[in-house]
Amino acid sequence: MKIGLMGGTFDPIHNGHLVLAEQVRTRFQMDKIIFIPAGNPPHKDSMASKEHRYKMTQLAIEDNEFFELSRIELDQDNKTYTIDTVLKLREMYGDETEVYFITGADMILDLPTWKKFDELVHLCKFIGSTRPGVEDKELSDQINALVKDYKADITITQVPALAISSTDIRRRVKYNLSIRYLLPKSAEDYIYEHKLYIDERKVL
Ligand code: NAP
Repeated sequence: MKIGLMGGTFDPIHNGHLVLAEQVRTRFQMDKIIFIPAGNPPHKDSMASKEHRYKMTQLAIEDNEFFELSRIELDQDNKTYTIDTVLKLREMYGDETEVYFITGADMILDLPTWKKFDELVHLCKFIGSTRPGVEDKELSDQINALVKDYKADITITQVPALAISSTDIRRRVKYNLSIRYLLPKSAEDYIYEHKLYIDERKVL
């Protein structure tokens, strides 16, 4: 079995994440993709509560039979680390299951600073996604160095739909600009219904 773990804050989830997950699933012939909203990411605070981020992700993926959602990080009170998540999922799925951790390429560059990276690198492969316009040469040099130094298995993929970003969606909501078509309608409706991201809203 081959599974992809889609790790992110998803604050909010958007069509770039969904396109990436589907492209990676088909390209690597994965059996499923498990979306894992970060509970308490080690390096920052999220804008929407974890339950809101969970619900938006649930709504956004519900029409894809190959997508699943996990609360594995959300249900922890402490800071959550990828090594602990991957270890738990490997236990659930068995050692013969091939595991890929999918996230933004800039996060992948930080891998050596992640908790127990030396161990993590032997437990899963990594897929890092870049946005259009990101300098490829610099990134691929850095990734090649990581692969060489740590024997990590890292694939970088560019997804044009990732021109969409969660930061931009939050900014658009705050400034009363349209977010239509940037994320599934169900998640868009959820944002307005629960008045997310509108602190200090300004009308342009
Ligand atoms: P982030 O700071 O929210 O995002 C960093 C960049 O990566 C943003 O441009 C973001 O775009 C993009 N990104 C995030 N998740 C993505 C995904 N699944 N697919 C494509 N692009 C993505 O990063 P984060 O969400 O906190 O962290 C990403 C993952 O790495 C999480 O699962 C986190 O737990 C893990 N992580 C682990 C450790 C550790 O174990 N020590 C340390 C850092 C991160 P958008 O804002 O548009 O998503």
